[in-house]
Amino acid sequence: MTDTIKHHLTDDLLMGYAAGALPEAFSLVVAAHVSMCDECRARLWAFDTLGGALLEGASPDGMSQDSLGQTLARIKSNPEAGPTAPEPRVITTGVFPAPLRDYVGGDLEDVRWRPVGMGVKQAILPTVRSATARLLYIPAGAAVPDHGHRGTELTLVLQGAFSDETDHFGAGDIEVANEDLNHTPVAGIEADCICLAATDAPLRFNSLIPRLAQPFLRI
Ligand code: ZN
Ligand code: ZN
Repeated sequence: MTDTIKHHLTDDLLMGYAAGALPEAFSLVVAAHVSMCDECRARLWAFDTLGGALLEGASPDGMSQDSLGQTLARIKSNPEAGPTAPEPRVITTGVFPAPLRDYVGGDLEDVRWRPVGMGVKQAILPTVRSATARLLYIPAGAAVPDHGHRGTELTLVLQGAFSDETDHFGAGDIEVANEDLNHTPVAGIEADCICLAATDAPLRFNSLIPRLAQPFLRI
């Protein structure tokens, strides 16, 4: 899995997660990606270590400019000493990574999907409502309607793949979208695409039908 992941979390998201500052829905997506991705697990561990050092009173000025780089280099050169992943437990069998299994109470077969239209289905996960986490099921070759974003949207691919105006995203990849991006994600034709997505503001759909359905779908 890890070797095929090309799209990773931003430093801001990893730092926010390490500091416990993200909305629950975002934390879930970060934890799920980290549990699938050695690289982000190492970066998170470095942020945790740095954060701990700062809390213990080390002055930031006293730390070399490149503390993070050095920590990462140490992790890379000695993977055995690396992170043991504090919360995001390492992937299990099945489609869902462990942090997600806890929310769903099982795996893919336990999800109660609701149709969104055009064959796309979703299942909203129970989190505090400052941000929404949902599972998305996009049939092979189908598209999510063209939309923009009023806030941040994190989309983690769990199975299959999708492409949009920016790139191709396969299993384990995460797309971080914001106000600057307008896109039409289209599932690959080889397999149905299953994603875990989190948003902290309603999407901005460009066509009428999805806009009308929005309040009911909490999307
Ligand atoms: Zn990653
Ligand atoms: Zn989007």
